[in-house]
Amino acid sequence: MHSFRHPARFGLFVLALGLTALGTRAGGRGSIKVTARTVGGRPVTGATIDVVSTTTSASTNTLGKATLSKVSSGSQTLRVRFIGCPVWTQTVNVPSSGSVSVTATLACKDVVSTNAPSSALIGVLDLGSDISGPARCLNDAVVEGIGSVTAPGNAGQTGAGGTSCHLAVLLLAQDRAPFYENNAAAIPWSAGYGDVYNVVMPAHRLRVPVAIFVSDPAVPFATLQNTIETVHLAKARLVFDDSYAGIELANSISGGAPPISEVTDEADRAMLDGGCLNAAAIRASALYDPERINVYYTKDVKDETGGLKAGYDCATSDAPNIIFVDSEQHLPFTLMHEIGHALGLTRPDWGHSQTYERFYSNSDGHNLNIMAETNDLPGYAQYLSVGQIAWMHLRDNSWLNRAIAGTSTIRSLQATSGVTPLATVCSCPETAATSDCPAVNTDIARPPYVSHGPSGWTMACSVTLDQPSLTLCVGQTRRVDAHYFQNGSAAIASWMWVPQETGIVAAERIEISPGANEMSANVTGVAPGSVNVRAYADGSFAELPVTVNLCAPP
Ligand SMILES: [Zn+2]
Repeated sequence: MHSFRHPARFGLFVLALGLTALGTRAGGRGSIKVTARTVGGRPVTGATIDVVSTTTSASTNTLGKATLSKVSSGSQTLRVRFIGCPVWTQTVNVPSSGSVSVTATLACKDVVSTNAPSSALIGVLDLGSDISGPARCLNDAVVEGIGSVTAPGNAGQTGAGGTSCHLAVLLLAQDRAPFYENNAAAIPWSAGYGDVYNVVMPAHRLRVPVAIFVSDPAVPFATLQNTIETVHLAKARLVFDDSYAGIELANSISGGAPPISEVTDEADRAMLDGGCLNAAAIRASALYDPERINVYYTKDVKDETGGLKAGYDCATSDAPNIIFVDSEQHLPFTLMHEIGHALGLTRPDWGHSQTYERFYSNSDGHNLNIMAETNDLPGYAQYLSVGQIAWMHLRDNSWLNRAIAGTSTIRSLQATSGVTPLATVCSCPETAATSDCPAVNTDIARPPYVSHGPSGWTMACSVTLDQPSLTLCVGQTRRVDAHYFQNGSAAIASWMWVPQETGIVAAERIEISPGANEMSANVTGVAPGSVNVRAYADGSFAELPVTVNLCAPP
């Protein structure tokens, strides 16, 4: 019926059939011999090979080979399909007899899939991969995706010559705590393609309890409280989310906003004005919660040597969850910056990024990383690098991984959220990263911003003491020496000596000529007791046990 209503079309159909029939009769049939392999040269086994618009198909063998027989001669479209590989097609001229050989080179990959299909993700993957040529071990490959991330190339367990590669998957999300796995047995990468690693992301961000205290009679409490809520905490929220930190500053691990209270007691105010030197007294006071990061807004914030700071974290006094912010000289990002230190960003150069390569600046040369130590960070500066976020979650000295009650940590108390705990020593950030910790400057591209070039600095990553311990009489002064290194070589360092408690010794820094690689102090016994004195260089330290006795100095 249809044909009769459209005779012209019917005629064309007949004509087309006729031409095809003629072509076939004239050309005969030939074979297509297909070899399917990856860009790295490995055979792709089990791939489906077919000729488009025909029923001719085959599957590749263990050598990646398949033959399609009795294919009509002439121009045909050959197609190769396999999970994890983009569909490959090519026009092939099939001979009227005999065969034509074709090699299909596929950009095959493997996938990490999650239970969070709409979450924006950044993956940091350690794996063997044939990303561009033969397989090799690839550490800290940074990939992005929504709900899943795709490995660069075919993900395997081995690199060149069959060497075992370190395997790890770190997934950072904007709206959830990270997923981390470094147990190779749990990671399914095979030599083949189409591996899918299904992981379960935590249901929500990791909650970091924070308590904020304001202690400055010269500043109206309500005014500063409003600034903290609408600027400082808002900035922190923006930075964490923009950086895929999966972290939320909260009242408790159940959520809520960090509480802000006013300190009015004169004795409490005097204690807080002493800064980190009073860390022990603060810990023993009612103004301190061991399960929170405690932030004190005070006037004239000082480090342990008396240097004025806009903000200061007491990690150098072994109290990373005590932070001071200047109640008058603060900047919008000061609180966020100090929380970065509390969460393990203490190296290189004390955790500061302005002189360190591969962090980003705008076209005016202003640093944009929140850990830059500068007063002219633009208002829109709001990022932490992927490496910095990884350190916050993985590094052993991060507040997230410090024991706060027995063996509990902020992270383990939220174990029901599925957060895998890992606390590890991250290596010197300026040299090779350890297998588990990516370099602190590992990052995604952040157009239009430009990343810093090599700084030429070689910052200290370790400190050694020239003596294992020191015994003094009250009133006696002895010189102590330490040396700082990066991988055994001399380094540039900014250094200080910090007694971990006040009142037992005084440690006075002795200036050494630049380049001496030596850091020295005069340590004086003040009162009987024992105290550890830390020799800090660029955020790395060695600890000197000092005993002070009541005796007559020799
Ligand atoms: Zn800082």
